[in-house]
Formats: sequence, C-alpha cells, structure tokens
Amino acid sequence: MKVTKAEIVISAVCEKQYPNDQLPEIALAGRSNVGKSSFINTLINRKNLARTSSKPGKTQTLNFYLINNAFYFVDVPGYGYAKVSKKERQKWGKMMEEYFEKRHSLKAVLLITDIRHEPTVDDLQMYDFLKYYELPVLIIATKLDKVSKNKRSQHVKRTEKAFQVEAGDLVLPFSAETGEGKEEAWSMIRQYMEV
Ligand code: GDP
Repeated sequence: MKVTKAEIVISAVCEKQYPNDQLPEIALAGRSNVGKSSFINTLINRKNLARTSSKPGKTQTLNFYLINNAFYFVDVPGYGYAKVSKKERQKWGKMMEEYFEKRHSLKAVLLITDIRHEPTVDDLQMYDFLKYYELPVLIIATKLDKVSKNKRSQHVKRTEKAFQVEAGDLVLPFSAETGEGKEEAWSMIRQYMEV
C-alpha cells in the first residue's frame, strides 16, 4: 500500500472522543517496548509518527492515526509493564473493554509479539480477550532479524502453538529493521477491511 498521508487525529481516553466518521479501523496491541511503534512507522514509511519507546506511566491513550483519509490505525497503549500501579492497570482494562466491546468500525487487531521469546502470559491473555469479542487477530512476530534464518520456522511454530491460534488467524514474521513481512501485513490489512 502506498501511504501518502498519515496523521494523528486524536489521542482518546474515552468513547465520546473516538472519531465518528465510520471509517474502518485496525487496532495494534502489544506489550510495552515490543516494537509496536516501529511496526506502525515501518508500514507507513515514517521515522517517528508513532512515538517509539514512549515512557510507561504517562497518560494512556488510544491514538487514532488517519491513513490516506481512508482508514485508521488505532495504537492501543502497551501492557505488561511491571511498574504500573494497580489503579492504572484497572483504568487500562476499562478503556480496553470500552473500545473492543462496542467499536463496530474495528475490523481486526494486530497483536505484536517478539519472535525471539515465548509469548508472555499478558500476550496470551490479550489474545483470549480479543477472541472473546470475536475479533480477527493477526499476530505479528516482530524482530525477525534477531533470529538466525535456520531457526525462524521453529520460532514461528512455537508462537502459533503458545497462542493456540484459532482458524482464520495467523502468525506473521516481521522485521522493522529489514522490512520483511511488510507487504504481507498490508495484504492482510486490506483483506480485513474488505469484509
Ligand atoms: P513499543 O514500545 O512497542 O512502541 O516499541 P518500539 O517500537 O519503541 O521498539 C522498542 C525497541 O525495539 C526500540 O529500541 C526499537 O528500535 C527496537 N525494535 C523494534 N522493532 C525492531 C525490529 O524489528 N528489529 C530490531 N532489531 N529491533 C527492533
């Protein structure tokens, strides 16, 4: 996909702030520091539209990026950061429910994980949470460049097994360093938006 325009439209904390133009949305979720911003920036060919390594603890918002005036990428705040207080965690949970439960324009969720490691308990819970809402999920196994070529399929299989990916969902290896997986990710995103 050729991205000619990408702009942040709103950092929302509650439903009434979400855009109401009915354009399709693709959400991006993942634990803090997994490489979510780098993934978004790679897809839209920008260096730092989505802030990389944003500091945990600051206001958690749903960031709506309007792409080509045609659809949104919705950057969901990262999870699994140990130092977040219980109160913050509860606030995060409420915000997630409010968004994932009722958002009709949401077409799919891209769940970003690190291909080098076993998915964390938080990753698995996030997947179950999304499947509870019957959302299509594409698992992006990023940092592929950090795994030697002969070990890649083994790492992908391990990720598929850990998540027990449901029919229709899949694990896509990706690297923000090399751009591997970028075209495949766009192709999947296009398919989600056509449904
Ligand atoms: P976020 O907190 O999930 O948005 O994570 P960032 O996108 O800020 O990435 C966290 C760190 O991982 C940064 O130092 C990135 O440069 C690095 N990183 C992200 N994606 C990749 C990748 O595909 N390959 C490599 N080698 N490093 C990556």
